[in-house]
Amino acid sequence: ALIIRHRMRSSGRWARAMAILKEVDEKSATPISKLRQVADAMTVEMHAGLASEGGSKLKMIISYVDNLPTGDEKGLYYALDLGGTNFRVLRVQLGGREGRVVKQEFAEVPIPPHLMIGTSDGLFDYIAKELAKFVASEGEDFRLSPGRQRELGFTFSFPVKQLSINSGTLIKWTKGFSIEDTVGQDVVAELTKAIERQGLDMRVAALVNDTIGTLAGGRYYDNDVSAAVILGTGTNAAYVERAQAIPKWHGLLPKSGEMVVNIEWGNFRSSHLPLTEYDHALDADSLNPGEQIFEKIISGMYLGEIVRRVLCKMAEEAAFFGDTVPEKLKVQFILRTPEMSAIHHDVSSDLRVVGKKLKDIFGISNTSLKMRKVIVELCNVVSSRAARLAAAGIFGILKKLGRDTVRDGEKQKTVVALDGGLYEHYKEFSQCLETTLKELLGDVSDLISIVHANDGSGIGAALLAASHSQYLEVEEP
Ligand code: BGC
Ligand code: MG
Repeated sequence: ALIIRHRMRSSGRWARAMAILKEVDEKSATPISKLRQVADAMTVEMHAGLASEGGSKLKMIISYVDNLPTGDEKGLYYALDLGGTNFRVLRVQLGGREGRVVKQEFAEVPIPPHLMIGTSDGLFDYIAKELAKFVASEGEDFRLSPGRQRELGFTFSFPVKQLSINSGTLIKWTKGFSIEDTVGQDVVAELTKAIERQGLDMRVAALVNDTIGTLAGGRYYDNDVSAAVILGTGTNAAYVERAQAIPKWHGLLPKSGEMVVNIEWGNFRSSHLPLTEYDHALDADSLNPGEQIFEKIISGMYLGEIVRRVLCKMAEEAAFFGDTVPEKLKVQFILRTPEMSAIHHDVSSDLRVVGKKLKDIFGISNTSLKMRKVIVELCNVVSSRAARLAAAGIFGILKKLGRDTVRDGEKQKTVVALDGGLYEHYKEFSQCLETTLKELLGDVSDLISIVHANDGSGIGAALLAASHSQYLEVEEP
């Protein structure tokens, strides 16, 4: 009788755990009809954000980039890329139309976590110091034209109210950053002061979001690139808009007739988004509650954390991992998305990678194959929702661009440049995104392509520094 009672109890637990999984799955559902609604809501918000400042949750930031790289850019330029867990410094020798990228070098430096939540000077001094070190290592084969000051493209991957091509004030921090005294400040001025404190002679020629850098880097190699999307720690997109379609732009109409717009789609939200109790709880506990809702269900910073929250619930309410809840399962952000990806991609018959990860990350041993399968399925639920919503966002941009159907028989090709660790390394995610986008596009799907712009944002920023150099001859209007 004892044994039977025990079996009954454990099968009750199992049923409870399955019910939790089933509920997450249902609440996360993204049928194609829903994705179309999300895409439509995205284009509606894009229009609203272009119409007036503050007109939408989408900031639709005017980048002041009205010319994308042509291939003629020449000279030595630096770039600095700040936005995720690492920052990168880069130098590139541009050879113009024939030479293109003659030579490039970069260094990647992790940002100590305490600097992400410290003071503005603390962060910028650290960055400027690493930059100065990197500049000091410049070899003979890089050539600065005589008498010139070194120039830098600054990729700053946070929402900035751009004031000119090389100035802009921080609207808010996102991702893991939270440094109060930077908000409202001109980040170029902050960086420039720190550069001066290092005794380095360098001018910031361009301030760009990573989406803008990726778009510029993508366009340098392919003329059909009209939009860029980042799927990494955070998420965002930018695209080339007709200047005349931006009512809130009161400046001169650029000669090109175009203006690159940073959508800041991470802050998108809509009643059509499939949100679960786990998303609401994650948001409430985050550094920026109520903000960046789209980002919190799509990007690399959060996917592993969503999975952890569901597992925690299964442990608490269905004793999924036994009678006690493993302590480490309660630690926020302990399950990083790269680990989630490794779990999801385990192809061994006994799911031994899953078993090892559970042990290494949470200290959970002795999991059955059945349990491991459930965990893999959970990763699938969370990452598919993310990938499909990202596809819907891209579809929304293509709609805004009028590239979702063939107009006047004109078969124009469109290329979207994608970058970011989530897209690059989480194969199930990127495959799901691509098939979903194809499905949404239907007949026009062969006119649209996605390219991986590998670290395009660094080169892109350097290219924009070149085209906004103080030494360029300015044409008379
Ligand atoms: C930021 C964007 C950035 C994106 C990708 C988001 O959190 O708000 O400015 O482009 O992350 O790095
Ligand atoms: Mg990046």
